[in-house]
Amino acid sequence: MTTTSPILGIDLGTTNSLVGVVDSGFPILLADEQGQRLTPSAVNFAADGSLIVGAAALRKRALEPRRTVTSVKRLIGRRGGEGDWQPPYSLRELGVSPIEVSAEILKRLKAIAERALEQSVSRAVITVPAYFNDAQRNATKQAGELAGLTVERIVSEPTAAALAYGLDKLGERQKIAVYDLGGGTFDISVLEMREGVFQVLSTAGDTQLGGDDIDRAIVNWLAEGASGNSALESQATPAAEAAKKRLSSEESTRIELPFFDGTSSLSVELTRAEFEKLIRPLVERTRAHCLRALSDAGVKPEELDAVILVGGSTRIPLVRRYVAEIFGREPDISQNPDEAVALGAVIQAGILSGSLKNVLLLDVTPLSLGIETFGGLMNTIIPRNTTIPCKAGEMFTNAVANQQDMLIRVLQGERELAKDNWELGRVIVPFPPGPKGSARVGVQFAIDANGILQVLARDTATNTDTVLEIQNTAVDVDDERVEQMIAESVEHAFEDMNERVWTEAKLKAEELLPAVDAALTQFGDAVSDDERRVIESAAASVRALLHATEHDAKALKTANAALDDATQELAVRLVERAMEESLVRRGLV
Ligand code: ADP
Ligand code: MG
Repeated sequence: MTTTSPILGIDLGTTNSLVGVVDSGFPILLADEQGQRLTPSAVNFAADGSLIVGAAALRKRALEPRRTVTSVKRLIGRRGGEGDWQPPYSLRELGVSPIEVSAEILKRLKAIAERALEQSVSRAVITVPAYFNDAQRNATKQAGELAGLTVERIVSEPTAAALAYGLDKLGERQKIAVYDLGGGTFDISVLEMREGVFQVLSTAGDTQLGGDDIDRAIVNWLAEGASGNSALESQATPAAEAAKKRLSSEESTRIELPFFDGTSSLSVELTRAEFEKLIRPLVERTRAHCLRALSDAGVKPEELDAVILVGGSTRIPLVRRYVAEIFGREPDISQNPDEAVALGAVIQAGILSGSLKNVLLLDVTPLSLGIETFGGLMNTIIPRNTTIPCKAGEMFTNAVANQQDMLIRVLQGERELAKDNWELGRVIVPFPPGPKGSARVGVQFAIDANGILQVLARDTATNTDTVLEIQNTAVDVDDERVEQMIAESVEHAFEDMNERVWTEAKLKAEELLPAVDAALTQFGDAVSDDERRVIESAAASVRALLHATEHDAKALKTANAALDDATQELAVRLVERAMEESLVRRGLV
């Protein structure tokens, strides 16, 4: 445990904001009392002088457009009249500045963190777009200070995203593109690694292009069928956004707008193919900006070492395909696009506070490492994205009687079949012949801080070790290290691995349980008895495993997933109910 006070990592987004911290060596994003990690960047100023921030504020937007401030990031650090965006509210009328509104969002994020961490925090790292000028960066910093936070550093969003994707392990002069399609803006940046830090070579984009435009395209499509019904247009946006999100994972979805104008209802099916036709022109607008950024940076697409996706709208399959087309390569989609910037801010904060060791944390295994087992299957020993240095092991036995030795093929890759993965090396482990299943060979993989993989195979009957070292780059491995490693039993490595999985599962459970409890208490009446029983029993299983004296990491992981599943529908209904309530309030139902 570190004694220094934690530093928060904050993504202060145009549409959504997130906060996180490094906890027990892991960068994590913190959830609010509803279990949500995404806080809409919206502030509602009530007539009585009180204010609300986040999802609740956003729900008031349709009712009180002039009292609800959204997208304030478009206004921060700009002189009045500057910029090309006209907000549907007047900050002057509300008597607040963009800095003050941003400060309210930051205060909310600080409160979410303090509740989750059960301690007060006063320091933060905040991200801003790469194109933000000095005035905009300073204004963001002032907002932080107004919210009671010392801003330790302002970090560029693409740089933060690259950190989250683990790309700081790139070699000198390697280059990447960060494609960020958010709620209202599109940013494309080309970065180059120079002396261990990212340099932004170029940025381009469109400040009027994002998920909002996609929602609008769906609304317009709906309205065509209803011949320009204005009630429909004002009601349909939340339903359109929800349908859009579903279409990122489903082939077809139904949009229902019950009594949208008091009498008529609408229920239409939207297929993914139809949706893609609708939004293709919008997505295609990103191409010119990408080419522009590449040419400004003097980089050809094939010279890029990675293309990463950031922003919630890059969850759309068409966007992913289109990015692959533009850059002539598959983008890296290994991180949650709407969380990558925040995660990078957290990592940066962790490095500053000393709770993350610079080199150690940021280096991760790019691909899973494992060995071939019976039936030609890949048996992963160290999963991809595991932080190095790391060590893990497993026990194997002979498949047939009187086998004299075992061939261990060391593999790298994500495919289920061994033959589809790359072979890094092979080693033969001899053991005394015996009946089937009598041999006990422990295989341990250890990767040191330099990324060198050492495979140790031990016949536990004779305590004979066979060691294979895999690395092209020559690094001296001193005998003491080797000996020390050999001295550590394979069983021990196994425990290490189990502890790691346990820690991850435990963090997840501790985040999930209070969120589920809160949702049940607050929205209990939206849940049928049957469903409540299912959720409560799933939660009870998680709780029991969490408090069991024997740590069963696998079981806890499975129980977490079951609880997540059990509450999925509830989450959907909470959103639907919020919509319904707003219809009722407006006397439309
Ligand atoms: P910003 O950086 O602008 O604050 P985000 O990166 O959080 O915003 O992106 C928000 C946008 O992403 C919204 O328009 C939202 O509708 C969209 N979005 C979120 N999830 C999905 C999804 N699964 N499919 C399509 N769009 C999504
Ligand atoms: Mg963003």
